[in-house]
Amino acid sequence: MNKAIYPGSFDPVTYGHIDIIKRASHIFDELIVAVLVNKGKSSLFSIEERVKMLEELFADLPNVKVASYEGLLVDFAVENNAKVIVRGLRAVTDFEYELQMAQTNNVLRNEVDTIFLITKLEYAYLSSSTVKEVASYGGDISKFVPENIAELTYEKYKKGNTK
Ligand code: ADP
Repeated sequence: MNKAIYPGSFDPVTYGHIDIIKRASHIFDELIVAVLVNKGKSSLFSIEERVKMLEELFADLPNVKVASYEGLLVDFAVENNAKVIVRGLRAVTDFEYELQMAQTNNVLRNEVDTIFLITKLEYAYLSSSTVKEVASYGGDISKFVPENIAELTYEKYKKGNTK
């Protein structure tokens, strides 16, 4: 079985992530979307909220599983019998960081490789941070995220409920 992991913060998940998940789910037998617990990064949504959003979005794709993890990504990959990490590449600005991470992970666990999917042109500008910034000012995020996620995002800012 050809298993891959797509790790990220998904705070919140955007159409860019959704596109990568759909494409990767066609390439691999099973894709685990892993929400990372990043202690150094403050987030808008809790890990549980992000897992729930992703589970609901991909309920109709049986080979997509959602999980959260804390610790080293390569350990999580090995524990789950996944030999491939999938990452999305938007622009050259992503490249240097992604290259370093992929090489580090490969040194840590030689059996784990990273594969990059190039973002669709229409989502190349899109990031979770942009979504949050626009939403915090009440701007229109309907082109960035699905409707239910847009509502949840606005709610966070209405309540001043940021973590
Ligand atoms: P991280 O904090 O690990 O970068 P993100 O949730 O921001 O987590 O991104 C997860 C992965 O999705 C990364 O590989 C990132 O490059 C990719 N990604 C983010 N936005 C897009 C997009 N608009 N199109 C394609 N890939 C994207």
